[in-house]
Order: sequence, then C-alpha cells, then structure tokens
Amino acid sequence: MDRSEIVRLDKRYVWHPYTPMDRYRAETEPLVIERAAGSRLFDVDGKSYIDGNSSWWVALLGHNHPRLVKVLQEQSQKLCHTSLAGVTHEHAAYLAQELVKVSPEGLEHVFYSDDGSTAVEVGLKLALQYWHQNGRPQRTEFVALDGAFHGETLGSTGLGGVDVFRKPFSPVVLRCHHVPSPSEGLDAAVESLRCTLSENADRLAAFVLEPMVQGASGMRMYDAEYLRVARILCDEHDVFLIADEVFTGYGRTGQMWAVDHAGIAPDIMCMAKGFSGGILPMAATTINSRIFDGFLGDADRAFFYGHTYCGHPLGAAIALEVLRIYQDENIVAAVAPKAAKIEAVFERLAQHEGVSRVRCLGMIGALELDGDGGYLDRAGWHVYDAALRRGAYLRPMGNVVYTTPPLNIPDEEFDSLLEILEESVTEVLAKR
Ligand SMILES: *Cc1c(COP(=O)(O)O)cnc(C)c1O
Repeated sequence: MDRSEIVRLDKRYVWHPYTPMDRYRAETEPLVIERAAGSRLFDVDGKSYIDGNSSWWVALLGHNHPRLVKVLQEQSQKLCHTSLAGVTHEHAAYLAQELVKVSPEGLEHVFYSDDGSTAVEVGLKLALQYWHQNGRPQRTEFVALDGAFHGETLGSTGLGGVDVFRKPFSPVVLRCHHVPSPSEGLDAAVESLRCTLSENADRLAAFVLEPMVQGASGMRMYDAEYLRVARILCDEHDVFLIADEVFTGYGRTGQMWAVDHAGIAPDIMCMAKGFSGGILPMAATTINSRIFDGFLGDADRAFFYGHTYCGHPLGAAIALEVLRIYQDENIVAAVAPKAAKIEAVFERLAQHEGVSRVRCLGMIGALELDGDGGYLDRAGWHVYDAALRRGAYLRPMGNVVYTTPPLNIPDEEFDSLLEILEESVTEVLAKR
C-alpha cells in the first residue's frame, strides 16, 4: 500500500488519541512509519527521523533492540499466553524477584498489569481496599499535584491536574485534593501539602505523585527535597505514598528510579513504559509488605482485581531481558555524560529572547517558547515542523519543546539530534 492510500484509509476510519480530528483531517500530513531501528524511525518513502521523544517515552533502549526481538521470537514459539490465577510460569516468577531487587527498599510484592494507567489503577484500588478492610473505611480520598498526569482510566483521570484531560470527566471521578506543584516554588508547595495532609488525614487514602518530573504537563521539574518532605509527612499522618514512575523510571532521570534522587521508598510504585522496552504493553506495580499483609485472612479480604493479560509470558520474558540489558550495557550509568550535553544545548538556547523556563534532568531537556502556555498552544509545532525537515522527530507539548531520547542513543545520532533541536528552535525564533 502506498502512502496516499494508507493516509486515505486512516483519515476515513482511525480516531487518533489526543487529536482534534477535524483539524487532523484537514491539515495534518501524518508521518507514515514503516519500520524503526535503534534511535531511528523510517517512513514509507524511505526517509528517516531520529526519535527525539523515544516514541511517547517508551523506547528507552531504542527501537527493536536485537536482544529483545530475539527473546520475543523465541518465547513466542513456546508460550504466548496463560492466565495468572492459580497458574504461574517461569518468567512471571523470576521477573517478580528481579523487580523487587531493583525496586527501592521495602517494595517486596509485584502486581502485573497492562500499561501505565492500569499500574496506577492497581495502586489506587489497593490503597482504597486496604483502608476499607483495615479499620479506616473513611479513607477514600487522594492527594495529587497540580499538573499531574497518571493515565487515562477513570481512577487515574481523577488524579489528573491537566485541565483538557480532566474537565469532561470531573463530575464523576475520585475525590482528589490538588496541591501546588513544587515546580512552581518549593516552600509554598511544602506548606500547602502540610496543611492539606493535616486537615484531611482522616479521609486520605494516598498521596500520588510523579517523582522529580511531571512529564505530561510539560516536563515540569522539582527539587528532591519535596520528595523527602512528602515521605515524612505521609508517615506522620499514615497516608500511603504512591510513586508513579511510569515515565521517570528505568533511568530516564539519571537514576534507576526518580525517587532515588531523594533516597526515599514509596509504599507503592508504578512502572510501565521502559519496563518492556517498547515491545509490548505491560506494566507492574510494586508494593510493600504492610499493604500485602492487609489483604490476608478471610477470602473476601483478597484483592479481587486482574486483567486478562496479567503477567503475560511474552511481556514478562521481554521485561526480564530489559533488566539484563540494563545491567550488561550499564544503561543508567551511561546517562550522566549524555545529560551534560543536553544541558549545554539547552543552556545556550536559554540565552535567546522568546525562550523561558529551561530545565534539564538526566535524559530530559525542556524549554518554553513564549505563547499562551496551554496544552493546545501551537508554538511548539513550528519547531516540530522545522525539526522534521531536518530529520528529527520532536513532538512538543503545546509551547514546551523538549527531548527525551533513547538512553542508549549512539553518540553520533545524539549529536545530530541536539544540533537539529538547536537549529530548529533558532529558526523559529528568528521568524517571529
Ligand atoms: C504515560 C504515563 C501514564 C500512563 O501510561 P499508559 O501506558 O499510557 O497508560 C501514567 N503515568 C505517567 C507518569 C505517565 O507518563
């Protein structure tokens, strides 16, 4: 099928995520991708693009890592699916042990699910049911940050603090207290969290946050001190701390987990995205023993929750190989020198008029172009077009231009990506 036929069918039938469809149909010339390898996407016309976003922050090891593809092929000959209720298999069991080993101290149990949203949903339901059957049934509300993004199930939507995602559903979602993001000022955020927790503790099940970086609200970054204080305050009021590491985990911020920057351990931790190296949708939630033990006893205290693909053998085999690659190829340790290059480029861009709020951490660099600042702001899309012409894929978020490349991007491609980013921003600013 050639490009125009694919696009014709697509525009006739496919409803795209996060996309105003009338505008898409009228104006968008979509990329039509045929294959990918390492840090590059190739379109049907043979043109290639460096993947500056790891395709929705997933391809931390690049696309089609040969070791992952090999495991996929081999495992698919043996076992693709089985249930995980009263049944188990080697990869689910062994992977759980390995996930506990790499998770922060105290997270000793693993619940498998499908994607980032379900990994968070598991955490929310565990927290609610724990309190329900352990003497505090009135603890049904949550705390989350302004600008939070935790996924798209109705549960995680309730925690969301990005208006366009949450607004249509706000009458029917979980009760959630939104507190100021520490990215807008540490002291005020700490004070506000302190008040919210002490005033509402009796009704709170958990505080859920994206540690260090709020990805979907535009790579908003904050100080590790906030995490340390959050841990202390949650302990004081006996409120669970849930770390959503779906974006920040697996070395994205320069540590295996973003909570490692603060040296804290949450009660529940959610992982997805890098978890299965962009090969298959799969996720996990790791949980401490106090919560696990709160579900023992009479059968009706069990967690009656699951998904058809829980512990999926293909996904589990791949997730296991992902961890081995992290070890063998020293993936996290290799971030620091690359992070320094991102910082250098973004610091230069910060000197330009029209650029503000430059921030970097690990393999993330972001800046804001002057504009209205909303998610629907078009400013970043001019940079996207300019970068695409030069051979890089840099999908923006409104006026936020950012890069989150694969952690193992080869030096030469990495240098080209940063050069393209710098040139594209400079070009767009010059036209203003
Ligand atoms: C992407 C993301 C999610 C949702 O993950 P899906 O796999 O898209 O369901 C949840 N939390 C954070 C922090 C994310 O970045």
